[in-house]
Amino acid sequence: MNDENNDTRRLDWAKGEGLLPAIVQHWLSGDVLMLGYMNAEALVQTRACGHVTFYSRSKQRLWTKGESSGHVLVLKSIRIDCDADTLLIQADPRGPTCHNGTASCFGNSTDVRPPLAFLAELDALVAQRHAERPEGSYTTKLFDEGMRRIAQKVGEEGVETALAAVVQGDDELLGEAADLIFHLTVALRARGLSLGDVVAVLANRHGSRPGR
Ligand SMILES: [Zn+2]
Repeated sequence: MNDENNDTRRLDWAKGEGLLPAIVQHWLSGDVLMLGYMNAEALVQTRACGHVTFYSRSKQRLWTKGESSGHVLVLKSIRIDCDADTLLIQADPRGPTCHNGTASCFGNSTDVRPPLAFLAELDALVAQRHAERPEGSYTTKLFDEGMRRIAQKVGEEGVETALAAVVQGDDELLGEAADLIFHLTVALRARGLSLGDVVAVLANRHGSRPGR
């Protein structure tokens, strides 16, 4: 982290004739949600009200995203790029960002998200199941059966993954590995931990610190 990337006083408004592009990113998943333009006033307004506000070139006025739909972008952080002429806004979207109803103006989450980021979604889904215990869900059943049963499943899937690695094809190995990761996520959650905590350990071992 470089403080220079947080200092919006450095912004070069003259370069874009008073308007700078602002990329909006989902603060947790990293999904790119939309691109808009801000003038200095829009930036001040964004900070003041906590809802991301742009300068609309078509309306020629300040435009708070979601002002009519209610689908606001709650401001989490603002970063500026190396040349101080582009903003990166991290936000918590309340509803779909695009007027077409998709999560991102570039398509659905699955279209804009790198494949590995799905692990964060899985982690969140398992946490939600743990909290809400919806009836008829396999995950709920595991939580209800308790840690012994969950641990047994982790052990079984671990052995099946190992066997598949040695004597089965790629499809079987991938299937068993998916089962293992799912049950491992459930075991961690049953202990109040998450895949994110495991990633933090892995990242630490490799000398890089993951963002929170
Ligand atoms: Zn859109």
